[in-house]
Amino acid sequence: MDNQMTKQRQVLALKYRPKRFEDLIGQDTISTTLALALDTNRLSHAYLLSGLRGSGKTSTARIMAKALVCENAPTSKPCEVCQGCNSANENRHLDIIEMDAASNRGIDDIKELIEHTKYKPTSAKYKVFIIDEVHMLTTQAFNALLKTLEEPPDFVKFILATTDPLKLPATILSRTQHFRFKRIADKNIIHHLSHILNIENIRYEEAALEILTRAGQGSLRDTLTLLDQAIIYSKSIITVATVTDMLGMIDPVFMDNLFDTILKKGDIRPIIESLESYEVGQVLDEISIYLKQKMLLNDIKFDIYVYDRFFKILADSKQLLSMNSDGGFVLILTLSKMVEAVNVKTIDEVIKQVQNNEIEIPKQTIQEVEKVNITQNAESTIVENIPTQTIVEQQTVEESAIIETEAEQLFKKLIENIYKKSYELGECFEKSFTYSSYDNNILKINSVAQGDCKTLLYKNFAHIKIFVAEVFGDETELEFEKIKKEPTKEEARIIQPSTNSQVGSMIEDIELHEDTPSSCVASMSAMKEPNLSQVELNIDDVLNSKMANTAIQLFQPRNPPKIKSKL
Ligand SMILES: [Zn+2]
Repeated sequence: MDNQMTKQRQVLALKYRPKRFEDLIGQDTISTTLALALDTNRLSHAYLLSGLRGSGKTSTARIMAKALVCENAPTSKPCEVCQGCNSANENRHLDIIEMDAASNRGIDDIKELIEHTKYKPTSAKYKVFIIDEVHMLTTQAFNALLKTLEEPPDFVKFILATTDPLKLPATILSRTQHFRFKRIADKNIIHHLSHILNIENIRYEEAALEILTRAGQGSLRDTLTLLDQAIIYSKSIITVATVTDMLGMIDPVFMDNLFDTILKKGDIRPIIESLESYEVGQVLDEISIYLKQKMLLNDIKFDIYVYDRFFKILADSKQLLSMNSDGGFVLILTLSKMVEAVNVKTIDEVIKQVQNNEIEIPKQTIQEVEKVNITQNAESTIVENIPTQTIVEQQTVEESAIIETEAEQLFKKLIENIYKKSYELGECFEKSFTYSSYDNNILKINSVAQGDCKTLLYKNFAHIKIFVAEVFGDETELEFEKIKKEPTKEEARIIQPSTNSQVGSMIEDIELHEDTPSSCVASMSAMKEPNLSQVELNIDDVLNSKMANTAIQLFQPRNPPKIKSKL
């Protein structure tokens, strides 16, 4: 085996350069079209072949030229035995003139070439001019070429090749038949590599060829050059380990370990240490490729939500790198974020947990669910489930509602008066304080005051007391109830009773006719619960999480209560 390997003298790209149209890799349409043109003798005088490097342009040009200098020309199947074919295969046919426009780009070079077109071919039927990298020609050179390109002698054929057809003048493009070469598909390249290795009698791992192909980025020539290198580098067999090592890439086994650790939320420090010798941008790219492959393979290890999160994290990290952030830091951040991203549960999992009672739902929510579920005997259910104070409140709500309307209007007036005194104070007052109740000369106010507003209100408390006395009367006492945060809509809905009784409609009436910020009987009753702060804390915590929203939606009544809370 070693002997055979060291025997490789000629590089593979040259040794296995396609010699017939059917040997061209991954360009079936183009080879078929050209073969057909040759066989039916419908030839253009100039062809333009464009596409990625290593996609087969030069090979195609040479096969085409051979097809024109063979004794049987024009033919799509050169005989390979005649003088013309042999000379063409050895790149020494006098009637095939190859010019590299990258090094001969001036007007003098083109003038010389045009001079050549005037003489008849020495032995073949045609004289073929191949100009590679034609976009490199100078403007003068292009202009000099135009006339000949448009009306060359019958025996002259031009084959122009370029990787960048957009750089060609429109005048050139309009005088040529343009063939665009596709990027060769990876599977075609892999197939070609294994074909060559089988002929060369060299053992290989299929996955190693995939890695080489990926590194070649669609260029067959580049991939073959890498294969040459891999054959030398690998002692007896081309393996994934040797190829990744040679290319400075991360071993897929290491990637498996990396993601096992991340998914198990293990310690990522050893991983970061082993990745120190790699360039971080490359690591991120390889992680992307790895995840993409796992996604296509439907790997059950990964959840679809996790892919989404991982790709977002990778995108963020690449952006950080593009801003010249420290590579090591970006890597640590990326992997740490990935560990965290695994943490988040999916909606399905949360629903399952709710169903299995693994998540504690706030008391009120459960009560609400029970109330919704029971349509008959509604009254008795309420008696069972609602705290005593609420029921008392409901019984008296009809008469107290009217009183509250007046009191609330007075409260509105109070706010107006404070605004008149000081706009800033009025704003703070309105933002921080909401009306709770007014009974037995006691004005209860719910307060969410905090920060600067709180300080301002505290400083002006004496003034506020005077305003209250003005509006509500001298004997009025103030009582404040601290609330951590204004209840959200969902919370209000959870707390409110949902029967279609008189109570509901009365509350609705109040809501519709009054613009005061708070008048919800239900929330008032809730405020009076002894463990209020604790309950609210729970509600807040849960309501702010995505999973709770799912739970709430799950338990939301089909006929939601009519009350529109403005809290
Ligand atoms: Zn021939």
